[in-house]
Amino acid sequence: MNNSTDSSALHVLQSVFGYDAFRLQQQAIIDHLVTGGDALVLMPTGGGKSVCYQIPSIVRPGVGIVVSPLIALMQDQVDAMRQIGVRAAFLNSTLSSEAMRAVEDALRSNELDLLYVSPERLMLPRMLDLIDSISVSLFAIDEAHCVSQWGHDFRPEYVQLSVLHERFPNIPRIALTATADSTTQREIIERLALTESRQFISGFDRPNIRYRISENSGNSRDQLLRFIRNEHPGDAGIVYCLSRKRVEEIAAWLESKELTALPYHAGLSTQVRQQNQERFLREEAVIIVATIAFGMGIDKPDVRFVAHLNMPKSLEAYYQETGRAGRDNLPADAWMMYGLQDVITLKKMQASSDAPEEIKRIEHHKLEAMLGLCELTTCRRQALLRYFGDELNEPCGNCDTCLDPPETWDATTTTQKALSCVHRTGQRFGVSYLVDILLGKDNERIRNFGHDKVSTYGIGNELNQSEWRDLYRQLIARGLLAVDIEGYGSLKLTEESRPVLRGEQPLQLRKLSRKSRAKKRERKTSRFADTGNSALWQALRNRRQQLADEQGVPAYMIFHDATLAEMMENRPETLEQLSNISGIGERKLVDYGEEFLDVLNEYRKLDESAQTDTEEETLQLFRLGMDADAIAAQRGLKATTIYNHLARGIERNEVPLGKVVPLQHNQLEAIRFAIEQYDGGKRLKPVFDALEGEFSYEVLRCVRSDMTR
Ligand code: ADP
Ligand code: ZN
Repeated sequence: MNNSTDSSALHVLQSVFGYDAFRLQQQAIIDHLVTGGDALVLMPTGGGKSVCYQIPSIVRPGVGIVVSPLIALMQDQVDAMRQIGVRAAFLNSTLSSEAMRAVEDALRSNELDLLYVSPERLMLPRMLDLIDSISVSLFAIDEAHCVSQWGHDFRPEYVQLSVLHERFPNIPRIALTATADSTTQREIIERLALTESRQFISGFDRPNIRYRISENSGNSRDQLLRFIRNEHPGDAGIVYCLSRKRVEEIAAWLESKELTALPYHAGLSTQVRQQNQERFLREEAVIIVATIAFGMGIDKPDVRFVAHLNMPKSLEAYYQETGRAGRDNLPADAWMMYGLQDVITLKKMQASSDAPEEIKRIEHHKLEAMLGLCELTTCRRQALLRYFGDELNEPCGNCDTCLDPPETWDATTTTQKALSCVHRTGQRFGVSYLVDILLGKDNERIRNFGHDKVSTYGIGNELNQSEWRDLYRQLIARGLLAVDIEGYGSLKLTEESRPVLRGEQPLQLRKLSRKSRAKKRERKTSRFADTGNSALWQALRNRRQQLADEQGVPAYMIFHDATLAEMMENRPETLEQLSNISGIGERKLVDYGEEFLDVLNEYRKLDESAQTDTEEETLQLFRLGMDADAIAAQRGLKATTIYNHLARGIERNEVPLGKVVPLQHNQLEAIRFAIEQYDGGKRLKPVFDALEGEFSYEVLRCVRSDMTR
């Protein structure tokens, strides 16, 4: 950025990015870098890591060099910077040699604030020489966990990056990541030679994500559809499934229900995958149905839900996948369905893998932890964070177990039946068969084995078939039963099951009452659709899409949802007012301000004329001699609404107060006095309270209108 008189960090945040204030540790990190220090930054996804290097790059002389392994993202990152008037470019293997030369020329003539570069490109001798000859404000090493061999995305190229410190000891470095346990952190510090750096560690929590996990009772597809339709109409989301076949199936099914759902898995051609990913990024309301192959490097901020139709195999995977929701910090859902079949499939997959014993043992523990989260009856977020070494003192209030605490029941006797059925049949059978025995099914297989003679035959009428399956799942999840490796999912008793079988240990389980689960507290439709202004919301989104299409960038690059939502809330009428909205910096104000004011103005006119019409109708009926209640009944509106219309009629001197609310003189005086006492009744609650609730808010509002006449 050039010729800015005040180039302080906060000023840049406000004028360039359009944000009011720094978040979390941003300020401290930026100050540290601006004064030349090195930093390691651990911040959850959506925490706002990027500005931590973008602002120092702008404020310090020279170009900020950002190393990232995600070359697919660089174009978008550069576009986003250019949108707000920051001079940015990238260098990676996708560029033609001319384009590359142009970038290098820009570097030499000091025309860039930011350069995104892949690690292998940065390490080329000729690149390092170039850096020697120009002014560099800082090195940012994004996705720093890639340097760790024990992390989950090891990149050998990253190890070379320690060279930066040796060769350019005076250029400050900042390493950033959202995922690093303490071992990985140590490795980053060591391998990137950051021992002298200051560490800025923020918690892992993603408070805007609502975690919800429920049992799959065989209709997960329908439940998914209901979830999307009821809670996320018009929203972008990701649906994860375990197999390619299932991905295709679910995508087709959602498409048949008039949603835009695109498949994404390793079996599709690169071209199709790219196309689908592109549409997901650029269009609104696209749902990607994917295997886990999708997601790395997806930086879309407005993914409103991540749904899992199968259980991931570890909490790490679950947290990473669900973490793709709500990067913009607006409310988002992590919604998961899991069932007995998931547990069996995952256990089998693990058992049949050729991995060394030690790896298998780790994988086994990870799966157990995942299962533990599913069966939990206490706050899910607390458990998740604890797993990642982060402590949350209070239950979060934003997960399903907090919002709708599951009931538990004494399952001791029922469990004994289930376990003893396993025992009586020689630990050779799978769940379906065991359930048939418990329910006393009359079939050939059971007769052939003589299992209609065992003591557990037909003793299980207290539960139905799917309830028994749920029970078995919980027992497997709790380690009371093991799924056999070679056998076809046959169940075996474990050591843990003995005390329960012997009646030495009671067992409390999650209640499986479908009915109460199904009527879950429903969050109304999409967060914006229910604000009563969905027409305006749509209009703003349409304008955003038009602008995005014209420039070939994703809609969120014009403005985030949060920015549009704030426009709806504050209804700015001038550029000045618009500039106060978060996410609108100087450049975007100039580029898009008028466009959005037009939409808001048009809507205001519509709104006003609709408003006058409905008020006018009320007043006419009133003049015809109907009272408020009668008008409400006739028009099918709430009495409060009618009183509001009448109050405005009073204000405009079109109807007399006395006719709307017949009050005695002393009553009227008392109300007027109270209103004067409390700031002219700007807020009516104190007035209402002062009068001890003797008069309704409707009456108070009418009197207030009469006073402002
Ligand atoms: P991360 O890289 O940590 O996942 P980002 O840097 O993408 O997060 O930031 C997440 C979102 O928060 C972005 O939309 C970003 O513009 C926004 N943001 C960052 N800092 C602030 C701030 N101080 N005030 C408001 N919004 C911010
Ligand atoms: Zn909770």
